[in-house]
Formats: sequence, C-alpha cells, structure tokens
Amino acid sequence: MEKEYNNSLSVYVHVPFCMSKCPYCAFYSRVATDDDISLYLEALSREIEWWSSFFPKGRIGAKTLYIGGGTPTLFSAYQWERLISILDHRLDLSLGCEISVEANPGSITKEHLRLWNDWGLTRVSLGVQSLHNDELKWLGRAHDSDTARKALTQIKDAGFDLSADLLFGLSGQSMRKWYDSLSGVLQYGVDHLSLYQLMLESGTPWGERPPEGVFNGYPHYRFAQWYLSHKGLDQYEVASFSRQGKWCRHNIAYWYQKNVLALGPSAWGYFNGVRYWNHKNFSDYLIATESEEGATAGFECLEEEKKIREAVILATRTKWGVSLNNFYNKFNRKILDSILSELSEIPKDLFSKEELRVALSAKGMRVGNAIWERIV
Ligand code: SF4
Repeated sequence: MEKEYNNSLSVYVHVPFCMSKCPYCAFYSRVATDDDISLYLEALSREIEWWSSFFPKGRIGAKTLYIGGGTPTLFSAYQWERLISILDHRLDLSLGCEISVEANPGSITKEHLRLWNDWGLTRVSLGVQSLHNDELKWLGRAHDSDTARKALTQIKDAGFDLSADLLFGLSGQSMRKWYDSLSGVLQYGVDHLSLYQLMLESGTPWGERPPEGVFNGYPHYRFAQWYLSHKGLDQYEVASFSRQGKWCRHNIAYWYQKNVLALGPSAWGYFNGVRYWNHKNFSDYLIATESEEGATAGFECLEEEKKIREAVILATRTKWGVSLNNFYNKFNRKILDSILSELSEIPKDLFSKEELRVALSAKGMRVGNAIWERIV
C-alpha cells in the first residue's frame, strides 16, 4: 500500500469558518462574516501562489486534495466557484486526484453538489455525528436527524462516494441508540465511516467544564468493529471503516508520512522529514500571506529516531501496518529493530498474525493508545 504514494504530494486546505462553535471542538474555526470569507479566499490565493513558485512550471501535482475545516459548506456557490478557480489555477489535478470535502448537514446545498460534480470531486464526508435529535442537541450541533438524512440522500443521489462521521461516548447514548445511528447511516449507502470517541480537550469549553454523562465508549467501539465487519465495511484504520477500495487515500498519505502541502490558517504540512505549521490566528495568517515568508509560522526537522518512532506509530494505526521490507529499506535498521523489540513485549493477541508485517489486530486497535505510549 505504501508504494503507491511514493513521490506523490497531497494537498490539504483548511477552511477556518463555522456557523457556530461546538463546545467540544478543538479545530481552529470561527464564526465568519462574508468579508472574512473574501479576505480568506484572497489570502489562500496568495499562499498557493507563494508555494507554486517552488514547483516546476508553477504547477503543483496533487494525488489527493482534501478540503476540511471548519465547515467548507458554509461557503456560498459563488465563494465555492472562487475557491475552485484558485485551486485549479495552481494544482494539477489531472493525475486521477482523489478530491474529498467535509460537509455539514445544515449547510450543504444542491448548488454545492452541482459544482462539485462539474469539478470531478470524489468524496463528500458528512458530519452526521448522530441520528438522534437529543444527542445532536446535547452536542450543540446546528442540524437535526431529518436534515442529516436528507443530506445523506442528496449526496448519494448526486453520485459521490459518501462518508459519514459519528461520535460515541455521548451522554445517554445507549448501545441501542448507537446501533440506530450506525445502521441508520448504512441505509443511505455510505462507503466510508469515521467513528470517534467524544474527547474533552483542553482549550475547549467542555475541556474546561466537562458536561455530565460523557463516558468511555470502549464497548460502543467494540460493537462497531463487530457490526461493521458483518456489514461489509472493513476497518482499515483505528477510526476508519470502508467498503473495499473506498479508503481515503488522503488520510493514508498522512499515516505513511507522505508529503502533504497544507494551506490555510492553523494547517500542518510535512515535507521530507520537515513538519511545518501555518499561523493559526486569522489576522496573523492574512498578514503573513502578504510577506515574503508566506503563511508558515514555524517548522521542525524530525531527528532520525523520532521520525522512525512516529512512522511506526502512524503505520500501525492502519490495517497494513509496518511492512518490514519497506521499513528496513527506508529506515535505520538498528533503530527500527530496537522499536520492534519494544513492541515484542506486548501481548501477541494485540497484533495480527502476518509474517513480514507488524499490524494491530481488532483487539489491538481498541487499545492502540496504550500501545503507542510504549514506543513514543
Ligand atoms: S461544525 Fe465541526 S469544525 Fe465546526 S465547531 Fe462544530 S465540530 Fe468544530
């Protein structure tokens, strides 16, 4: 699997706007005015122009493009036309580029779907979170279950690959209710699911003042692994399930440390062992894109051992895990052997039984964090 991404470039575009701010969300986003969106689009245009000067003929060949946020569907059709023209101007998407976009049920429209179809977009990832109104209300989401169902239908009817995000560990979320949300989205023909435990992260309102009722959803996660495998969705990463071949290639690029050009405020990118990050604050980002240094606020050159440890942790998030042949070809054998010997002290049933490959079993994925803490 890793070989396919050699010498490729993935592009991530962060849209930093939302209709309102969810109390648990740690992503950088803010409530926007139309002026903010215009300023953002012009800054993004400057940022991509800046980067393009480092590429032959000013064209950036993209194997995957992911537009996330934030809420990209907050943009009107006109604003989306502008975004597409900015990206088309400097990105070469002609190499079978996988294009994914995040959408929210309350703001996606027929115009979005029409524009994306004309553009050749691959996948729409819908932030469903739950199909129960009480859970959506508790989460502070702007949509209800009917709106989510309508959006799922519209996206599928428009012919896109369909992905849905769901959350578990929510107050009052019985196993029955979790099953309703899982089976509910499957009825709409999703090809891909991302499942997340609700986290209370510091710096968010709920991280500071946790609401009552959040719980460790380990049994819910375990149930989803069992249920989805019986419904033809393969777990290909700790939080990701898909039908055969419908994996998100963009995310696989992150898990195998491929080069990622990241654009937009707070975005993080990676080039040949160097990680960089953009200015997070919106005004700082706007100003930085006018400077000769571009939007980058800082960078870190990963030292060899850290890079290898990170590579093992990221790869073992996926079902393909660490291919020993590839990793020995790519990395320092002595360091890799020492990391693998640390892993060998972990119970065998947490790993799949494959020769020349180190990958977690379904049980191992359930306790992945504890495993990675041992080798970080
Ligand atoms: S809509 Fe998504 S990105 Fe926006 S605040 Fe809510 S969780 Fe965060």
